[in-house]
Amino acid sequence: MEAKGVEEMRIKRNKYDITFSQYIKQRDVCCQWCGRTDGALQTSHIYSRRHTNTRWDPRNAKLLCFACHQRWHSDPIEGFEWLKSVIGADRLEQLRKDAHKVVKLTTADKDEIRASLMDTIDDDMECFNPEFDVKSWTT
Ligand SMILES: [Zn+2]
Repeated sequence: MEAKGVEEMRIKRNKYDITFSQYIKQRDVCCQWCGRTDGALQTSHIYSRRHTNTRWDPRNAKLLCFACHQRWHSDPIEGFEWLKSVIGADRLEQLRKDAHKVVKLTTADKDEIRASLMDTIDDDMECFNPEFDVKSWTT
């Protein structure tokens, strides 16, 4: 399963990914799995960036520290069990369906998604819940 993580890294990050990543960092602030706020926090997709329909969908990402990101890719079963306990089976199932919808986004579509993410980036957010009750995945 480690190969999946490597494959993910090979997908080139564009300006849309960079904005998306900034958005997730502002939203989550701390590692959503272990609660760390220090060190290198990384935006981690739930369904791979290969899935265009959810590539920039805030429901499809969470902020993780380096160690938890490694853990996420090395043990996806454990990762998905944890996630299900946080967001619930129904939301996870809906996300799975949305991720597997095949869509073709134009540049205008992507620009629109990016603009709406930039609108909601808020500098004043704090790590919402040290008990890892992920705030915005559940809204
Ligand atoms: Zn962590």
